[in-house]
Amino acid sequence: MLRLITLGLGILVLATSVASATTGDWVDVTCPVCENKFQGYELHSTNTFGGQDRDLCGHAAGDQPFLLACWTCPQCAYTGHEEDFDPEGPSKELIARLKVKNPLVAAQKIDPKAKRIDAIPAWIRWDLDSQVDVLKKASAETRAWGRLRTAQTQRFQLARPKTLADPLHALWSAYFKRLPKELRRKSYDRTIAIAKALENDADNAKLPLTAPERVHRWLAAARRFLSRGESPAAARVIGKLRSANKELAPHVSTLVEDVETRIARERVYIAHAVPLFESLTKEADRPVEEKVAIRYLVGELRRKLGQPKEALRWLEPLLEAGTPDWLRTYASDAIQKTKAAMKSGSSDR
Ligand SMILES: [Zn+2]
Repeated sequence: MLRLITLGLGILVLATSVASATTGDWVDVTCPVCENKFQGYELHSTNTFGGQDRDLCGHAAGDQPFLLACWTCPQCAYTGHEEDFDPEGPSKELIARLKVKNPLVAAQKIDPKAKRIDAIPAWIRWDLDSQVDVLKKASAETRAWGRLRTAQTQRFQLARPKTLADPLHALWSAYFKRLPKELRRKSYDRTIAIAKALENDADNAKLPLTAPERVHRWLAAARRFLSRGESPAAARVIGKLRSANKELAPHVSTLVEDVETRIARERVYIAHAVPLFESLTKEADRPVEEKVAIRYLVGELRRKLGQPKEALRWLEPLLEAGTPDWLRTYASDAIQKTKAAMKSGSSDR
């Protein structure tokens, strides 16, 4: 059930909303491969109150379930979902193989003494989950969503602003108050509107802002864009911040580098996901409505990779009849952003 929520089509998640907070418990786990003991997180319920990003990443109010749904043994890197830790569960054969030879390699060093899975960054666990999917010869669909999930981890749990926490929070409140009421309730639209307003003000040389005030606006905008999966916009804003400031204060520099690292990491995993999603659109037995949503996703992901011509090739046909309204809105929005990026020359090619 939970696997369906976390890995299954985000497309379906859009239509439903589970009316409860994210709840769960830390549970003791014994690794079926190396017998190390640690704690995983058993999810009881979640919600979709945080809305959906344009790459179909749902946000929960509170903890994001998908960041905790993927468990990794800190000692041997064996990774899976709750059921995969049952020695008699669906991964029984793989567990037997890994006991003899374990080729799993964490993308960054893991502390083997870690007690809980949240001591290991979610993207490292999801990356390992993709390695396990390959060993299991999982379907292209499972592997595509696994790669996309790894990319999507990068918009959550951004580096803590520490000394900048108060100024950034004050900016958020001030810009929030300027929003029309109908926008305030929609979390994606609200975040993007605030990020755009911050960016516009920082860009506006006529506004009497000090250099740090301008930097804080660009930084806040970049972090907000990134938090809703708008990494091309985050990259654009960071580019402006960098070119206007030869040197950055250390506490700003740390946060800027955090955004840059995340954008770069997201691209790596999107690049892995795209050909897998493309292959799904060629499957003869896949329902048409799923194919339409996947075509959109390929276009949107290509846009995020800075491949505007390819993105438009996938997105423009979706404006025709037969596309659900919400998806046509998404596609139309993605087309506009792609064309704007082409015009400003901020795309790679
Ligand atoms: Zn283990």
